[in-house]
Amino acid sequence: MTEMKAVMSRILDPEISLRKRLFQLLSTIALVEYCIVTVYNLVSGSSTTQIVIMLIGTILFAATVAFTFRSGHIRVGSTISGLLYFCIYPLTFFSSGGMYGGAPPVFAFALVYVFLVTEKWERAASLAVCILGSAVCFRLAYLHPEMLTRHPVDVEHAESFLAILLVTLLLCMLFTFVTEVYRAENRIVQRQKKEIEDLNQAQKNFFSSMSHEIRTPVNAIIGLNEMTLREEISDEVRENAQNIEVAGRILLHTVNEILDMAKLETGGMEILKSDYRTASLLSDIVNMVRSRATEKGLDFVLRVDPALPAVLCGDEIRIKQVLLNVITNAIKYTREGSVTLSISGEHGEDGRFQVVYDVADTGIGIREESIPHLFSSFRRVDEQSTHAIEGTGLGLSIVKQLLDLMDGSVSVSSEYGKGSTFHIEIPQEIVDDTPVGSLDLKTVPDKAPASQQNRLTAPGLRILAVDDTPMNLMVVKKLLRDSGAVVETASGGTEALRKTLTTHYDLILMDHQMPEMDGIACLHRIREQESGMSRDSRVVCLTANVGADMETRYREAGFDGYLVKPVRGKTLEEEIARLLPSAQHTES
Ligand code: ADP
Repeated sequence: MTEMKAVMSRILDPEISLRKRLFQLLSTIALVEYCIVTVYNLVSGSSTTQIVIMLIGTILFAATVAFTFRSGHIRVGSTISGLLYFCIYPLTFFSSGGMYGGAPPVFAFALVYVFLVTEKWERAASLAVCILGSAVCFRLAYLHPEMLTRHPVDVEHAESFLAILLVTLLLCMLFTFVTEVYRAENRIVQRQKKEIEDLNQAQKNFFSSMSHEIRTPVNAIIGLNEMTLREEISDEVRENAQNIEVAGRILLHTVNEILDMAKLETGGMEILKSDYRTASLLSDIVNMVRSRATEKGLDFVLRVDPALPAVLCGDEIRIKQVLLNVITNAIKYTREGSVTLSISGEHGEDGRFQVVYDVADTGIGIREESIPHLFSSFRRVDEQSTHAIEGTGLGLSIVKQLLDLMDGSVSVSSEYGKGSTFHIEIPQEIVDDTPVGSLDLKTVPDKAPASQQNRLTAPGLRILAVDDTPMNLMVVKKLLRDSGAVVETASGGTEALRKTLTTHYDLILMDHQMPEMDGIACLHRIREQESGMSRDSRVVCLTANVGADMETRYREAGFDGYLVKPVRGKTLEEEIARLLPSAQHTES
């Protein structure tokens, strides 16, 4: 009984391989059949030869099965046990009256057993041997009926019936067990699938909350540092502050890359299509990268095919992210010479426009053997030449995955020591096929010292900043200090509602994630506040939640604008000037 329990628990034990368990199950059933037939032979007064054959067969079969299971050589063991099972067959066939006794149904069971325990070529070979062997038995019995040990007719009929009954029972048992084993397997698979989904979700949540938590202190560091840069300070302090700014931006970039990677790997990255002007996309790109190239003493060359359609439809933000990544790399890995961005394309057969971006540099180049690893996560190739250049090795992997999501592609050709060209193709829907013409993309310097950046003059403007982190409130206050605006603060939704009830604010800067009442709920309460003085105020979400779909989500929630922490003074001022045209935004 305990042995039977042990066998059952082994059959259902998911730690043991499915193949091993099936073998054990099938062989146990075959063994049961051996035992029943042996016992029957003993009690029915069969010949001594028949009893001895059955006893030897049973012992040999049990030994083979036990050895196979212990040694783990399932493939060899199952073939031997299958053939052994079948070797006994001719002996029982002749000693139990051939086709007149109970042997034929047992033959059917033997074939099913051999078929199920063996695999691949062993299965074909074993089945061939078994079928051939039994054909020979039947033929011999036909040609030499004297070879058969016949029993009285009533006994033969009874044996034949009992054999059919036994085999049917064994087959039913077999299929019940097999179905149970597969069901148990299926339950495990379903449970594991659920666990993986939960893990993915937990990973996604972890990365997004980590990104949020890191952005909050970085917001304070970058914002307060920007204030330092605005002051009249010594060259040494300025240099230190500029280094803090660069380090802060790198930290932010890394956090963004990790967040993007997590989203891509958990399938949470969405491609959001909208119409965009080709010229404006290119001008944004050029504005973002040209100054970086020239700062490093590199020529930035732009070649635009005038035949490009003026308006396309696609995910402009992700296209910019892809291009920015590749161009930033080109600048990073080029010491002297130039970086060239060429844009061309052609009308595809599917009605879309295949935009082709080529980013060529005269930099350190990439070894041929490294090219296949370029797009793998966390892989930085040619570490000796690139270890001094900051980077995570995530950028190109994100580029590749984003392009895959957009039906696009990327390839590289490079000559080590001479330079590389990244070739990117992205199919885009055409909205306006008018040729874009020759573009004159003027660079708007984005790296001007903070002290010379645009300034907002908004005397008398009343602004309320709502945030549960005092440091963030201080950053906003300081960034707007010189604008003349009156900036008040609230450390949460309740305090904000108290203030908006009695005071009219032209603009409210609202954090999203706050304890007790979040920014969205607070916004709705402000809008519904009976006799509230700020019911119609412009409300901007100033949050550490980043993501391509966030802006749309916040707009749908009723916000008039969306700013991501850490916010630059210039960006904040531009947003205020956009929402409140009375505020002057001028170059200082
Ligand atoms: P990283 O953050 O290290 O730049 P990427 O995924 O963007 O990560 O790039 C992976 C590796 O590919 C880099 O570490 C660098 O060795 C190589 N690489 C990428 N672009 C260039 C290029 N334009 N010239 C030379 N090597 C490059």
